Amino acid sequence: MALPEIPASLRDLRNLLLRGEIACRDVAAAFLQRIEKHNACLNAFVHLDAEKVMAQAERADERLASGGREPLLGIPLAIKDNLNVRGDPCTCASRILTGYVAPYDATAVARLRKAGAVFLGRTNMDEFAMGSSNENSAFGPVRNPWNTDYVPGGSSGGAAAAVAAGLAPAALASDTGGSIRQPAAFCGCVGLKPTYGRVSRYGLTAYASSMDQVGVLAQSVADAALLLEVIAGHDVMDGTSLREEVPPYSERLEGDLNGVRIGLPREYYGEGLDKEVRESVQGVAGLLAREGAEVVEVDLPSTRYAVAAYYIIATAEASANLARYDGVRYGMRVEGADPIEMYGRTRAKGFGPEVKRRIILGTYALSSGYYDAYYLRATKVRTLIRKDFEEAFQRCEVLLTPVSPVKPFRLGEKIEDPLQLYLCDIYSVTANLAGICGIAVPCGLSREGLPLGAQFLGPALGEERILQIAHIYEALRGPFGSPPGF
Ligand code: GLN
Repeated sequence: MALPEIPASLRDLRNLLLRGEIACRDVAAAFLQRIEKHNACLNAFVHLDAEKVMAQAERADERLASGGREPLLGIPLAIKDNLNVRGDPCTCASRILTGYVAPYDATAVARLRKAGAVFLGRTNMDEFAMGSSNENSAFGPVRNPWNTDYVPGGSSGGAAAAVAAGLAPAALASDTGGSIRQPAAFCGCVGLKPTYGRVSRYGLTAYASSMDQVGVLAQSVADAALLLEVIAGHDVMDGTSLREEVPPYSERLEGDLNGVRIGLPREYYGEGLDKEVRESVQGVAGLLAREGAEVVEVDLPSTRYAVAAYYIIATAEASANLARYDGVRYGMRVEGADPIEMYGRTRAKGFGPEVKRRIILGTYALSSGYYDAYYLRATKVRTLIRKDFEEAFQRCEVLLTPVSPVKPFRLGEKIEDPLQLYLCDIYSVTANLAGICGIAVPCGLSREGLPLGAQFLGPALGEERILQIAHIYEALRGPFGSPPGF
């Protein structure tokens, strides 16, 4: 059966659905067909039930026919495998959650469902969202659609690859230290990490609770804005979710750059930054300056301690959060002579090597005698980083930085050297440590033909502004294009 062309923007897709020019089931079928064709190679989806997808689409068609006008009615979305979707597996790409079926919807998922979205399937990721290359998955690595010898970034590599390759129009994911923005940059799509607390974390499997945030990957800034509008807002189930009203982000995208001050943090353009990444992000600054923005240099002096502080805080929180996988309540169990042996065997078999490394690191950082030297000091660094941003945002409205100091690399190239991979998170973990918002937008291609990304950072609850500026940049840049062959 010949299936319809799917327009690139969610708004256009919605208009076609509303006008009845295309049916929700045709849209769902078109995406399922693309997934069928490309997933064996990309490994972007880890669970997918085509019948269930079609049943949701049929229901959306019925709603539409009976006058339903929910904002995402019939729009298919992919969901990262660490967000609970009632009735679906939710494995976090870990063996330890084999057999676990989500008994409820995460709040962000429930809001998308209420808005009429159709859930396509669960996307691959680094195990428990720990990683930057999607090579730490129990389901095997995801491949970058621009060149399948390269990593898609991580931990939301499956979501980014799916969106970039057109296997899903957009995806819901999580970002604890760059997991949305960095894979978006590596795959050439838009990745939005909202302010800590902007979106409820209820139903997101906890990695580092003080930094975890739910966000989206999309093909354009406008699509990201539309989705944020639906998922954001206070939730009684998450005590850290913010009460501030949710602006109509998608209606506030237009504007100009006159008088807008954009800050370039000196520390984000220094040592260790790849030349091609530097040049393409500087190109973004040049373009914005020509359109009337004022580009100023600012300082974020504590940046040099950010990776160390992040990897202490994240692993410390992870060591506590992952204690619950004990073979009793969730997923798999390996029997033993007594409970202690059963816990040990279950965890030894269930967790992959990177997750074990992080649990050990975090447990060490929290242990008595070391707590003050590591965890406590890291929390002090965190305060300094937050202050750096506060000062910078007195001088400019948004910051423009690279997303990653390196361009997309080959599968297997860095995975043997965890420290080297951790260091590549330098420009993304700071936003999570400070709790501010950030968006990654594609800004060029490397010599090898792989995407490069720029990041706009805004103060807490500055989503409206970063979306607007990213949207203006996107229009100036022009269409980014799709990976060859997709
Ligand atoms: N790469 C970072 C880490 O491994 C960030 C991951 C994330 O945002 N979940 O911790």
